[in-house]
Amino acid sequence: MSRYFSDRYASLVPYVPGEQPQDRRYLKLNTNEAPFPPSPGVLAAVAEESGRLQLYSDPDARALRAKMAETYGVTPDRVVLSNGSDEVLNFAFMAFASDDRPLVFPDITYGFYPVFAELNRLPYTEIPAKDDLSIDPADYLGGGKKTVVIANPNAPTGLFLPLSEIERIVKDNDGVVIVDEAYVDFGGESAVPLTDKYDNLLVVGTFSKSRSMAGARLGFGIGSPDLIRDLNTIRNSTNPYNVNRMTLAAGVAALTDAAYYRDNCKKIEAAREKTAAELTALGFTVIPSKANFLFAKHPAIGGKQLYLTLKDRGILIRHFDKPRIADYNRITVGTNEQMDTLIGAIRKILNETGGQK
Ligand SMILES: *Cc1c(COP(=O)(O)O)cnc(C)c1O
Repeated sequence: MSRYFSDRYASLVPYVPGEQPQDRRYLKLNTNEAPFPPSPGVLAAVAEESGRLQLYSDPDARALRAKMAETYGVTPDRVVLSNGSDEVLNFAFMAFASDDRPLVFPDITYGFYPVFAELNRLPYTEIPAKDDLSIDPADYLGGGKKTVVIANPNAPTGLFLPLSEIERIVKDNDGVVIVDEAYVDFGGESAVPLTDKYDNLLVVGTFSKSRSMAGARLGFGIGSPDLIRDLNTIRNSTNPYNVNRMTLAAGVAALTDAAYYRDNCKKIEAAREKTAAELTALGFTVIPSKANFLFAKHPAIGGKQLYLTLKDRGILIRHFDKPRIADYNRITVGTNEQMDTLIGAIRKILNETGGQK
């Protein structure tokens, strides 16, 4: 730290993204990226748009917001776009949480939430998930002014809360409820239709997972026009050109090629169920997932040990060094071939450690 670093941030512990090592070629199953490339339409749109990079992007992102509105059945004034959904999450924390409306989220969830809270000096409470790592909706009721953040499906568990439970939480709170739907396209159900009915519901989404665009950085928020106006006040006070030209063009093309992405999601869901069954047969406890990853632990090998052994053999999965979940690993679901490679490697490791059932 330099002696110039502001006191405001001196104790900030930044978010640590999943590793992206360059020392060798890994089978990457650690950051929930899609195993499929963007659609041909996206590649063509990006190539074409790159010829106009001398010009600023549209700060109102009109073309993509119109396409988003059509896709999600809302009006364009209910859509805000961001540089990855991490950015709109930060904007939403800035806009809607305060000393009067403290943040509330589960202890087992996306690791960026406490970081955004600390960054913005916002009070927050982490509510323990149940022993099975599921979220008890009752913990988020009780009225009052709080800002609730729920990832649905949750990360890193993959557990999905039915929409009726989300609605109960939204109804009950006099603060904004932020529902992070990064993984909703893999079998969950979106709360976007509820944003018609409740002016305190903000749904956040991303093109990083189901739409194979993690490297393009495109996220969005959908809510009431007033919530979106507030988010635009923050956005336009930070960076009005927060989404670049190529990404805006890619976003329109991705929504146009919806069938391609729907197909890919179905493939991932099928590979997920097959892999979950295989892991279970090998003796793993596997949490039922509606996301493009599985969260699993094995009685004969520690989470960290399995992660390190697989890494040594060229396969990356995600281990969280966190008390309640240290036995687990989060495994991104890739293609069937990739999953076969993973299962083969795990079977071998369990044989070597004498851990196979
Ligand atoms: C991946 C992820 C995001 C954000 O990803 P972006 O690439 O910034 O859009 C948000 N929330 C959760 C729970 C995620 O797993």
